[in-house]
Amino acid sequence: MNRRKFLSYVGCGCCGFILNSCSTAPITERKQLKIVSEAKLNAQAAAIYEKVKNKEKLSKDTKKLNEIKEIGKRIENSISEYFYQSNMEDPTKYFEWEYILIDNKKVRNAWCMPGGKIAVYSGILDVTKNENGLAAVMGHEVAHAVAKHSVERASRSVILNTGTQLIDIFSGGALSQINRNTGMNTVGLLSQLGIMNPFNRKQESEADYLGMIFSSLSGYDIRETVKLWERMKKLNKGKSQPEFMSTHPSADNRIKKINEWTNKIILEYPPISIS
Ligand SMILES: [Zn+2]
Repeated sequence: MNRRKFLSYVGCGCCGFILNSCSTAPITERKQLKIVSEAKLNAQAAAIYEKVKNKEKLSKDTKKLNEIKEIGKRIENSISEYFYQSNMEDPTKYFEWEYILIDNKKVRNAWCMPGGKIAVYSGILDVTKNENGLAAVMGHEVAHAVAKHSVERASRSVILNTGTQLIDIFSGGALSQINRNTGMNTVGLLSQLGIMNPFNRKQESEADYLGMIFSSLSGYDIRETVKLWERMKKLNKGKSQPEFMSTHPSADNRIKKINEWTNKIILEYPPISIS
């Protein structure tokens, strides 16, 4: 899968106006609108991350947490090395990576905030099953942050000035519903960053694609990605779940694309050695 082919899959819909606020997502080169500063969003995310750590019950399973950190470290290093070797600016230059494992079996989710603050919920470990499955989930979440999807989304909501997120919180809308269904204490907090709102279809597809590249560069077997999504699909029948389980694009569509990408990514992005 080359860039052009990827772009033909996801297309480009932004940047019709405010031209100088345009930039492109790394690797896929999809055009993005960014008028909200990354530094500001990262700082906001870091503050919310601290609150999440206080509110949620953190797991005492240090073995699992260490595995998460180890996978994370490999992904961090591979991303920086890849951009270094490609003579491109490292999009994670200002990241301050951090990992937590939240003890909540009901939540089959994981996320990565802008700036590299990561949470894995213990509920998703039943679906990831093994190291490659966990690396697939983490690669996907990290990809949202690397591609600055939250910056992009925040920029769009400034322009549209809809305020729907806040309205939703105060009116007991979909987010409160998620709160009730999952038992997460921090839905309101996370929604301030848009983390609980589904990313759009292009962003999800881009995160799938980039996530597989990052996992492959880090030496993980990305043939597990499609198996992971099959397991997700089975478990997720008829239920709606936040972020990772979000249905954009639909599970079938997602699985089809992941299948199409797998072999090419393995060939084009083999494990990278750190210089
Ligand atoms: Zn996603």
